[in-house]
Amino acid sequence: ARKPLVVGNWKMNGDLIANERLFTALRSFIDRELLARVDVAVCPPFPYLGQAAAWMGDAGIAWGAQDVAAHENGAFTGEVSAAMVSDLGCRWAIVGHSERRTLFGEADETVVVKAQRALEHDVGVIVCVGETLEEREQDRAEEVLARQVGALASLAGVAVERFVLAYEPVWAIGTGRTATPEQAQSMHEFIRGRLAAAGFADSARVRLLYGGSVKPANAASLFGMADIDGGLIGGAALVADEFGAICRSA
Ligand code: 13P
Repeated sequence: ARKPLVVGNWKMNGDLIANERLFTALRSFIDRELLARVDVAVCPPFPYLGQAAAWMGDAGIAWGAQDVAAHENGAFTGEVSAAMVSDLGCRWAIVGHSERRTLFGEADETVVVKAQRALEHDVGVIVCVGETLEEREQDRAEEVLARQVGALASLAGVAVERFVLAYEPVWAIGTGRTATPEQAQSMHEFIRGRLAAAGFADSARVRLLYGGSVKPANAASLFGMADIDGGLIGGAALVADEFGAICRSA
C-alpha cells in the first residue's frame, strides 16, 4: 500500500510572523499518530526554508522547496540550486508546477533537468502535470498528460520514495472548481499507465497526488479514490486547521 502524502504549497505567501503562527499551529494539529499514517510536508518560499527547518525539524513534518534551478551552480543571478535546498534540509522540491510552466515558460525538458538536479542532491521531487481548460475542452487532456509524463522517462530508475507525481488540472487551481473524484481518478489511472509505459517498473508504488482547490469538504472523497494518494494543497495550506483537516482526510 502507498502511504498517503499531503503537501502544502504556500506559493508566494507568508512572512516571518505569519509563518511562525502557522508552524506553531501545524505542530499542534498534526501529531505523531497522524504522521504514522500520513506523510506531511510544507513548501514555503525559499527565504523561509531555514525557518521551516527550525520549526518543523523535530515535528516529523517535512519541508520542501517550490522549485530548483536547472543549473548546478555559478553565474545564474536569482536562482536557487538543488544543493542549497538540500543544505537546508528539504526532503522535497516541487518541479514543473503549472504556474512555472505557464507564467515562466518552463518546458518539459527544463522540468526533467530540474528534477534530475534535485534527485542528484537527494532531494525528492514532486513533479506536477495537468491540462489547461482549453486543452480539456478540446479533448486533449490525455494527449497533454501523455506528453508531460513521457518526458520523465529518464527518471524511471529513481527510488520510488523520492518520486511523486502531482496531477493538477490547471482549470482547478485557485478557482474553487475542483475535479470530481471520478474525473481525477480516471486521470490518475491514465497517468499511472503512462508511467509504466515510460519505463517506471514500480509505477504501482509511485504516489500520485491530486491538486486543485482541495478543501476539507472535498478532500476525503478525492483521497478515497483508488489511485489518489494524497494532495498538493494551495490556498487551504495557509490555514492551519484546514490543512490539518485535509491531512486527517488522507
Ligand atoms: P489551490 O489549492 O489554491 O487550488 O492550489 C493548488 C495548487 O496549485 C497547489 O500546487
